[in-house]
Amino acid sequence: LDFLAQTDPIVAQYIQQELQRQRDHLELIASENFTSAAVLAAQGSVLTNKYAEGLPAKRYYGGCEFIDRVEQLAIDRAKQLFDAAHANVQPHSGAQANFAVFLTLLEPGDTIMGMDLSHGGHLTHGSPVNVSGKWFKVAHYGVSPETEQLDYDQIRELAKQHRPKLLICGYSAYPRIIDFAKFRSIADEIGAYLLADIAHVAGLVATGHHPSPIPHCHVVTTTTHKTLRGPRGGLILTADAELGKKLDKAVFPGSQGGPLEHVIAAKAVAFGEALTPEFKTYSGQVVANSQALAAQLQARGLKLVSNGTDNHLMLVDLQSVGMTGKEGDRLLGEVNITANKNTVPFDPQSPFVTSGVRLGSPAMTTRGLGEAEFKEIGDIIADRFLNPEDTAVASNCRRRVAQLCDRFPLYPHLTIPVPA
Ligand code: PLP
Repeated sequence: LDFLAQTDPIVAQYIQQELQRQRDHLELIASENFTSAAVLAAQGSVLTNKYAEGLPAKRYYGGCEFIDRVEQLAIDRAKQLFDAAHANVQPHSGAQANFAVFLTLLEPGDTIMGMDLSHGGHLTHGSPVNVSGKWFKVAHYGVSPETEQLDYDQIRELAKQHRPKLLICGYSAYPRIIDFAKFRSIADEIGAYLLADIAHVAGLVATGHHPSPIPHCHVVTTTTHKTLRGPRGGLILTADAELGKKLDKAVFPGSQGGPLEHVIAAKAVAFGEALTPEFKTYSGQVVANSQALAAQLQARGLKLVSNGTDNHLMLVDLQSVGMTGKEGDRLLGEVNITANKNTVPFDPQSPFVTSGVRLGSPAMTTRGLGEAEFKEIGDIIADRFLNPEDTAVASNCRRRVAQLCDRFPLYPHLTIPVPA
């Protein structure tokens, strides 16, 4: 970073500003985390210089002997971490991983079925603005209006009615455990492929804090940067080695060019970290912290979608306090808490306004906060939401956020020398 400050002080300054923002905000976006310094180092390495189209030992470029070792290590660690027969570590992102699955299993015009975006699904699961919604016929399922949880009988009925070729489970904003075995029985009943997109819960799956989809699903995709705490990227896993070969071809040459080997090195580092007992402890703490935050919000009278959480995230339904998600997001932002507005099931508001705020524990758990601190965060958020016009309360919330940030420093050894 010394070099960067000397050669491009403008970019160095912007990075310094972002580091400072990360340091002095409570990061509660459920899909974000703070990677280790080792992951940052691998990603910022000379591996970015290398073209390596193909797979380890099967490249279209010379000079790949060390790159091959890096990518093979990432593959082997991913397989070990998830107990999968096959892994492709090349997808540039979660969306790219899903696209490669579609390219492998579907033809344009086929039907897919995933959860409605407004109930917690992802854009790549059939949204009309995404290629998954443009190229395929889409049927959606949602959560039950009573429990706000998955209703497997209803999903089975919808699946029988629409007969999708691909059934998708795994979500962006679902706070409960997913029963992959039940999904498989539904998929088998209609002869569909089953994809689990575990982008959100991958870290919990890796450590046994969420059931694994690997034995039940034809294919599993994930991002590597959420609960898994690696670099920004994607990963495809399957228990079916033959299907794995087809998936490899769909990534390259099907939908990507040269793999990002510096990112793959960082994935290898992150998978290595995720295999340690410390990461298992971390993952358990992510769930414990999430539940401590949820319990405190509820104790203060705020409503949570499905009345709680089993994983790293929760959705606060602000309709009960007469507020929109947009407004809630703004109120938190003003006291240096970063979260995101989110639709709640059966939301009367538009996706731009919404009625909810999504909160998650992975990033602040990485900073070392425990249940007592998450209870305090619950109080800060409740104070803010219940007194939206009170500037004294706002100042008090901002001060308590600053105290937490000071007590749990982020990247204490990282300095970016920025010329004055
Ligand atoms: N799938 C799910 C369930 C997600 O939540 C996300 C990201 O939020 C993605 C896929 C897409 O990942 P990316 O942003 O890396 O493309």
